[in-house]
Amino acid sequence: MTLSVTVLGATGSIGVSTLDVIARHPERYQVYALTGYSRMAELAEQCRRYRPQRAVVATAEQAKGLQQVLRDAGLSTDVSWGEQALCEVASASDVDVVMAAIVGAAGLRPTLAAAQAGKRVLLANKEALVMSGALFMQAVQASGAELLPIDSEHNAIFQCMPGNYADGLARVGVRRILLTASGGPFRNFSQAQLADVTPAQACAHPNWSMGQKISVDSASMMNKGLELIEACWLFDARPEQVEVVVHPQSVVHSLVDYVDGSVLAQLGNPDMRTPIAHALAWPERIDSGVSALDLLLTARLDFEAPDPVRFPCLRLAREAVAAGGTSCAVLNAANEVAVQAFLDGRVGFTDIPVIIEDALTQLPGEPVIDLEHILSADRLARAHAERWVRARSLSITL
Ligand code: NDP
Ligand code: MG
Repeated sequence: MTLSVTVLGATGSIGVSTLDVIARHPERYQVYALTGYSRMAELAEQCRRYRPQRAVVATAEQAKGLQQVLRDAGLSTDVSWGEQALCEVASASDVDVVMAAIVGAAGLRPTLAAAQAGKRVLLANKEALVMSGALFMQAVQASGAELLPIDSEHNAIFQCMPGNYADGLARVGVRRILLTASGGPFRNFSQAQLADVTPAQACAHPNWSMGQKISVDSASMMNKGLELIEACWLFDARPEQVEVVVHPQSVVHSLVDYVDGSVLAQLGNPDMRTPIAHALAWPERIDSGVSALDLLLTARLDFEAPDPVRFPCLRLAREAVAAGGTSCAVLNAANEVAVQAFLDGRVGFTDIPVIIEDALTQLPGEPVIDLEHILSADRLARAHAERWVRARSLSITL
């Protein structure tokens, strides 16, 4: 049977890797919809190649332009725009699998729509789950959606868990989850050096090629903070059951520690096509195009503890998840604003955790009522963080 796939965020790093895997298996997958936000030429090229029924862009003007380009190319792809259209292609009855690979809070509604519609949801967009936590997991349960992690660590954990892990970690004998972190490009930088790093340095990850936002998150270790929260929801783990260990080679993608002393790990070359292929085909296995791991070439596997002083974001994530309610949405929103401000040259790298901590302190978490409540916490935290950034930009100008 051919499965019909929507790729949300097709023009991004995960989107491109997903289409690469799909192209290797035309008998198994066909593309139903592709979505993009700013890279219109890339989206047009993807439409020519994968001939989706639908494409979604950000604005009416973009939609008009792309529709014309595709018509001229002899394609009948229907182009629409905006959040409602993203939700439609994520939940359409013709769709079997949704790759959720929009970056940040912008992916929440469409990813949730896919979960509510009972799709196989391949979750790359960790921010959606971090923000909406219990609400998202309830939607998955209620609809019978299959939620499969794409984040390499969570995909590794999923592969090392027994099939019945949803019964509870204690019941299946899991003691701890060990999340590996590469440590990012600044692993060995001093606090003083961190204050002067540039966006270009932050985006040059030693092992992974990724979008800008997650690259900066990786450099600040907020990526691991978001992943800690993600792991708690995906595997119904308490925060203290999830440990982070720095592993600079990014070959061991994460581990599960059992009560009998066994520790299971998943290893592989750092290439996102492996978790993508795993989740697309699960419980079967398909070729991903990733070369076999050469252990002799790898030679060493190093592990060290994360440094809470130079990289406070991990602590902030632990505090947010412990506070519960809307705190994780506040953490995520303040981080998104801080990262963008850093990329725009408006604040320094070491301001990122300061902005987040300020938002968490000033906007205490409240028990979540509904999705609107989460989105309102997101908006308040963005406005709060923006004010911090503006004040800093002003003081730099003066
Ligand atoms: P990219 O920045 O490369 O891609 C993001 C995608 O989202 C692009 O298609 C972009 O469109 C689209 N997009 C951006 N803003 C909006 C918006 N406001 N509304 C709708 N679409 C939007 O990011 P990545 O592919 O690196 O990451 C995607 C997600 O996957 C993130 O949540 C990240 O944390 C997660 N992830 C990524 C990994 C990786 O290796 N890259 C690993 C693990 C998780 P356009 O490009 O046209 O502007
Ligand atoms: Mg990851």
